[in-house]
This record gives sequence, C-alpha cells and structure tokens, in this order.
Amino acid sequence: MDLSDSPQEAAFRAELRAWLEANPPGQEPAGDEDAHYAWRRDWQRRLAEGGWAAVHWPPEHGGRGATLTQSAIFYEELGRSGAPLPANVLGLLLAGPTIMTWGTPEQRDRHLAPILTAEEIWCQGFSEPDAGSDLAALKTRAVKEGDAWVITGQKVWTSGAQYSKWCMLVARTDPDAPKKHQGLTYFLMDMEQDGVEIVPLRQITGEAEFNELFIDGARVPDEHVLGGVGNGLKVALTTLMNERAGLAFFLQVRLRQLLDRLIGEARERGLLADPLVADRLGELHLRAEVLRLTAYRGLTAIETYGQPGPEGSLTKWMWSDTNQQLTQFAADLLGPDALRAGAPWAYELLRARGNSIEGGTTEILKNIVAERVLGLPRAGR
Ligand SMILES: Cc1cc2nc3c(=O)[nH]c(=O)nc-3n(C[C@H](O)[C@H](O)[C@H](O)COP(=O)(O)OP(=O)(O)OC[C@H]3O[C@@H](n4cnc5c(N)ncnc54)[C@H](O)[C@@H]3O)c2cc1C
Repeated sequence: MDLSDSPQEAAFRAELRAWLEANPPGQEPAGDEDAHYAWRRDWQRRLAEGGWAAVHWPPEHGGRGATLTQSAIFYEELGRSGAPLPANVLGLLLAGPTIMTWGTPEQRDRHLAPILTAEEIWCQGFSEPDAGSDLAALKTRAVKEGDAWVITGQKVWTSGAQYSKWCMLVARTDPDAPKKHQGLTYFLMDMEQDGVEIVPLRQITGEAEFNELFIDGARVPDEHVLGGVGNGLKVALTTLMNERAGLAFFLQVRLRQLLDRLIGEARERGLLADPLVADRLGELHLRAEVLRLTAYRGLTAIETYGQPGPEGSLTKWMWSDTNQQLTQFAADLLGPDALRAGAPWAYELLRARGNSIEGGTTEILKNIVAERVLGLPRAGR
C-alpha cells in the first residue's frame, strides 16, 4: 500500500495539527485520579466543540465521516501532540458505533450526542468472575417483568464504572437455550439506580481504574434493549470488533512516545554509546515500526473487505508484548530512579502487566492467529 498522504489526507492532517496547536489540552494534573479524569472530560468537550471528538462518526451524528486512514491520522496527530485520549473512550469507540449499527432511530437520537460531548460516560459490562475470554459463559440474568427487564448478577473489571451514566451490559435472557451463546441480550443499562453497586478494585499501580459491579434487581426498560432479545452475542461482537480496530492506532502511537522518551533519557545519561543499550533500543525501535506497518496492513484489510482482519489480534499481541519489554528495559536501564513511588516509569512498568489481559489475553490472540491466520488445527477446548 502507499503510505504517503493523499492531498485530502494531507489537508486533514494540516487542519488537525493547526487546531491542536491552537487548542492545547493544558497542564496534566498530577496524582489525583478524579482530577485527571475531569481534565480528560473537559478535553473531550473541547474536541467536540471543534468537531474533532469522533472523526470516524458520520456527520449526521456529529462526526466528520472520516475514512479509516483519516481516523488513523487523527490518532497519530493526537499522540504526536502529547494530548490524552478523550475521557469517554468506550462511548466513542465502542458504544457509539454499536448503537449506530444496531440501535433504533430513538436510541440513536437519545444516546449519541451526549457520548460525543462526554456529558454521559459509558462503561462495558461484559466480563464476570467466571466469564472473561469465554463471554458466552456469563451468568448475569435478566427476567422480563411487564415492560422492563430485571437484572441480577455480577460483573467485574468494569473500567470507568465510577464515572459512568450508562453500561453496555450483556445478560442471559433465556437460560434454557440449547447452546450457551444463544439466549443472551445486550442492554443499555442506566447506572444511576439503586440496584447497581460499584465497588472499586485497586490495581498494582495504586489507582482504581476498574470495578466490580453488583447488580441486584436493576431495571432496564424494553426500549433500552439493543439489537433485539436473544441477539446479544452478535451485538457484543460488533462492540469487540470496534474495540480492537479503534485502539490499534492509538496504542502504537503511545508506544512510540514512550520509546522516544526512553531514548531521550538514555541519551541524557550518556548511555547510548553502550552497545548493549543501543542493541536493545534498536530492537524496540524495530518492533515499534513493525507494529506501525502491521496496523496499516490491518487498515488495508478493513478498507478492502469492510471488516477487520485477524491482523487486529496480531497487533494487540505485539503491542502488549513490546510495551512490557519496553517498560521492563526502562527499569533495567534507569535503575532505582525508574522505580521510585510515583515516578512515571514505575507507573508504566506496573500498568503494562495488564496489557496482555485487557481486550483479549495473549493466549486467546495466539489461538486466533494460529487458527485463522496460519490455518492450524483448532485447539482442544
Ligand atoms: C486493565 C483491564 C481493563 C479491563 N476492562 C474491562 C471492561 O471495562 N469491561 C469488561 O467487561 N472487561 C474488562 N476487562 C476484563 C478482560 O476483558 C478480561 O480480563 C479478559 O477477557 C480475560 O478474562 P478473565 O480475566 O476472566 O480470564 P480467563 O478468561 O479466565 O483466562 C484465564 C487464563 O486462561 C487463559 N485461557 C482462557 N481460555 C483459553 C483458551 N481457550 N486457550 C488458551 N488459554 C486460555 C487466558 O489467556 C488467561 O491466561 C479488563 C481487564 C483489564 C486487565
């Protein structure tokens, strides 16, 4: 594929770069998680005002109808400028596109605008204590009562639930369905009700980015079923496909930023002359470039076939592996300075541990690559 910008893409890049220069996100608040989140929420509101919050959304929903390449340019430029991801990332990348695909006109009218402006934050209630990689094993129940559904069960690892007004929730509506992936339904659940309890889970980094959700008799009216009763797994797959395709570009740009920061710190300490250090940094550079080009290859597949190819799994696997290697090497190279409590590299090192679990574990991604890319026999289940 041709990796240079077309005239339209170059114009898009120039307009965005100028806007980002004129509208910097402001000083990143240190320490306090809530203050940090409020900063990203305000940043998203400003992006929305400038028409940049969701470039890939169609213009009738407040986007720019950007092509996939322009979306990739958006993330590249956002990363290059050092700006953060918008606060409502799950709303913009997952809930919005899923509602556009499966929602009724009323659901689109009700939900899309407040997602864009970060007025209403969304979380993803898929994983449960006994259902992560195997989503179809979920046990949360939804029982019909009049014109509403009553939900009971537990979700876990629900990122950002503490800030969320809405949850993309998958629950079992037909426990007697012959196969476990049948009988699931996708709900848009209002988090602000008595039946929903949010319990923070503190991570190794010290922050409580995700939560347990205890749901006891929460009510979801019929009009908040998305994509039809019993169709939950199909709707959830739309969400998951958007998750991998949307994040791939931002992640590789973020990796590049971290690597450049590490090279800069190694240079300041006069470590670049050490051939062992140069060798390791060279290898990480090579991996970052392979990741970038593989992400572009994935883009070509989406543009050609209309849906993400298995390259998405490869990109996610390579990114998590490389990010873990990079942050470990930073700790090896910079020594105790990198590991002081509160030091940015300490945070990156600890946060990277979750990379090989979130958004699909490395083992599951390897299975996908083995079976769907290499055509190897299916693993014993
Ligand atoms: C930082 C972070 C944020 C997250 N945010 C969210 C969120 O917002 N919403 C949400 O719903 N979930 C979220 N998750 C949950 C994440 O999606 C799950 O952790 C993930 O799907 C794995 O599920 P599990 O933890 O239940 O592990 P399991 O599926 O139980 O897997 C346990 C181990 O067994 C391996 N394994 C499982 N099945 C197979 C197989 N068939 N072949 C080979 N190995 C296998 C896995 O690779 C893993 O090593 C988040 C996780 C993290 C780390």
